[in-house]
Amino acid sequence: MSSHAQQPDCIFCKIVRGEIPSSAVLETAEAVAFLDIHPVNKGHVLVVPRAHHADLTELPDHLAAHVGTLLPKLCRAIKAATGADGFNVIVNNGAAAGQTVGHGHWHIIPRFHADPVNWPWPHSEYAGDELGQMRFRIERELGLKPGH
Ligand code: 5GP
Ligand code: ZN
Repeated sequence: MSSHAQQPDCIFCKIVRGEIPSSAVLETAEAVAFLDIHPVNKGHVLVVPRAHHADLTELPDHLAAHVGTLLPKLCRAIKAATGADGFNVIVNNGAAAGQTVGHGHWHIIPRFHADPVNWPWPHSEYAGDELGQMRFRIERELGLKPGH
């Protein structure tokens, strides 16, 4: 039984607890990396903190930092094992962003020249002072600018 905060009905908590089988490629005291069962491309790996946190906004800094220390070696291993030309590291946060499992996690997706994956996303433009306003609002939320 894990001592990490868990949600009884969460599919990734069940994987962390060993109640659902998974193909783990790396396990640490704080996180597990395993193969995604429905890969975008074969070799697609999920990196999952053992503790249940809904998404990145709720993840403690130390867990985010820990996962960060695992990413370079995992990416090197996945790229070498799959022969990928590149890879995407993606975190979906919230249903609007495509998150389907409410236990925050990183995707490492091997990519190949001319694979059928729909990328890049469409880009938009800022008009007028929108860019400056957006910078101000984010800096204010970060506590770098006085609030109103
Ligand atoms: P999200 O859409 O939440 O960012 O990503 C969830 C991912 O979890 C999906 O890519 C999906 O294929 C994967 N997934 C869902 N259920 C399971 C499971 O039981 N085992 C494994 N290995 N992957 C799963
Ligand atoms: Zn969970």
